[in-house]
Amino acid sequence: MEVLRTDVLIIGSGLAGLRAAIEAASRGVEVSILTKVHAMRSHSVAYAGGTAAVLYPEEGDSFDLHAFDTVKGSDYLADQDVVEMFVRLAPQEILRLEHWGMPWSRKKDGRIDQRPFGGHSFDRACYASDKTGFYAMQTLYNTTLKYDNIKIYHEWFATSLLVEDNEFRGATAIEMKSGEMYAFEAKAGIMATGGIGRLYNFTTYGHSATADGIAMAYRAGAPIEDMEFIQFHPTGLVPSGILISEAARGEGGYLRNNKGERFMAKYAPQKMELAPRDVVSRAMMREIMEGRGFEGPNGLDYVHLDLTHLGDEKISEKLTEIKMLCMNLLGINPAEEMVPVRPVAHYLMGGIQVDMNGATKIKGLWAAGECNCSSVHGANRLGTNSSIDCLVFGYITGKNAAEYAAGRPERDIPKEKAEMEEKRVFDGILRGGTGEDPYLIRREMQNTMGKYAYVFRHGDGLKEGLNRIRELRKLFGTGRVADKSKEYNQNLIHVLELDFMLEMAEVVLTAALARTESRGAHYRLDYPNRDDVNWLKHTIIYRTKEGLPMLDYIPVRITKWKPAERKY
Ligand SMILES: Cc1cc2nc3c(=O)[nH]c(=O)nc-3n(C[C@H](O)[C@H](O)[C@H](O)COP(=O)(O)OP(=O)(O)OC[C@H]3O[C@@H](n4cnc5c(N)ncnc54)[C@H](O)[C@@H]3O)c2cc1C
Repeated sequence: MEVLRTDVLIIGSGLAGLRAAIEAASRGVEVSILTKVHAMRSHSVAYAGGTAAVLYPEEGDSFDLHAFDTVKGSDYLADQDVVEMFVRLAPQEILRLEHWGMPWSRKKDGRIDQRPFGGHSFDRACYASDKTGFYAMQTLYNTTLKYDNIKIYHEWFATSLLVEDNEFRGATAIEMKSGEMYAFEAKAGIMATGGIGRLYNFTTYGHSATADGIAMAYRAGAPIEDMEFIQFHPTGLVPSGILISEAARGEGGYLRNNKGERFMAKYAPQKMELAPRDVVSRAMMREIMEGRGFEGPNGLDYVHLDLTHLGDEKISEKLTEIKMLCMNLLGINPAEEMVPVRPVAHYLMGGIQVDMNGATKIKGLWAAGECNCSSVHGANRLGTNSSIDCLVFGYITGKNAAEYAAGRPERDIPKEKAEMEEKRVFDGILRGGTGEDPYLIRREMQNTMGKYAYVFRHGDGLKEGLNRIRELRKLFGTGRVADKSKEYNQNLIHVLELDFMLEMAEVVLTAALARTESRGAHYRLDYPNRDDVNWLKHTIIYRTKEGLPMLDYIPVRITKWKPAERKY
């Protein structure tokens, strides 16, 4: 197997990966980025509504306010020292993007504009129309092109991390075009592989969000954290699941039930539609379950998002993409008609456990963006806090990984491990794989997660779901690949992805079943209250030698804000 060498190997080219690459490269080291899709097709391109940061303290915003909103939004599970650092580093990232050419939307006086967003008590979402991610990614991508010491491997699929004595040494990856596997020897690594949205069928996520990076780190010995906390965004378009950004409610949109009532008045009388996502999603599901929703296709019952009072001009200017999505996908003009929406799998609060420096428990390996758990977002993330998390932790990990790599000698990769991986993928799966049809298994996994690990959960359902996923893992076998060709073998890639997803589905359900309380996005019908006495703690998941998840718990770090009841 051919070996490629680099100083810092970054897996993932979304916001977090590109930001990390620029930071590392600016410090003079060689940077390689692996990405299974073209960099500009990373999910970050789809983020819409905005990016949070305190820009105008003179107008009443403050770091403390942003931090408090984040902690309260997290249902007090966020680690407060990390949150305090995170809000302080946020503004410089907005300005850096600005200097690199980001076309932020402007106030009349020319300063960067900010819009309101759920759970934030100040309008602090910087935005570029409702295509913020598209512009942010273009800005970062253009900036990477200025560095000769950044090389992007587009359409290379990483299959495993090479770790020896708990030290990161590199990774194996398939060049999808040729179907060849290569080993990367690297002095430092950064995981930036994004979320796990495709564990669900009804999801806002692109097809590439398949948990690969989290599963790879977990298999290599890195503990993962808080995997039971999955965010369901209130406004997934029915039936596709495509996101209607919270910008719609930020700009003044209402939610209505089948009686035409703005039902949020009952659940969050002050914040109404702009309460945090967990609160709004539960309110919507209660309305639907109590018969005040609308019947949708395939059980996707829904409520209405009403934008009609905003007027065509405002919708066309500030919610351009939303208008386009409604028109193209449903033939609905949101200025005139109601939009059908329902909570949709949207974000993973958990991920690879990292410290304040973004370091994982594997020496020489960092993690940034949605795949990490630092934990800024605790049990529920506020809208616009994720993109800024990607930028802040991209910066932190890029800096730390580069400094670490600069002082280290080149070392050979653990050859045997790389060769074993080549055998596993090509002999064990591509040529000799066993198991049932992976596409049917994937659909069944997604149905199981959607049924048992959605907005409302129950111990009985979680047990049932866990048993079902374990059965599916047996049926999956090693993974069966029908297409034996080498070049661009999507079938092989799908099987490798499903292998990662099935393992993570088991982890999510195991952690969710164990947490016998309701906190943030994790709501147990059989344990409807938050239980700070027993559960004010993070779940840490280790993989045993037998490949099973083993749970442990660590305390939440609290600095200023004592846990209190959340009212909105
Ligand atoms: C529709 C939508 C709208 C959103 N709106 C907002 C918003 O308004 N504000 C906000 O703050 N957040 C928003 N979010 C959340 C936010 O966009 C994401 O959390 C963030 O973009 C994740 O970025 P990332 O860099 O961690 O990963 P991603 O952008 O998901 O990138 C993951 C990268 O990993 C690579 N990768 C994965 N597996 C492998 C592998 N095996 N081998 C090689 N490469 C691999 C992929 O190719 C990709 O480059 C939104 C999310 C969605 C889905």
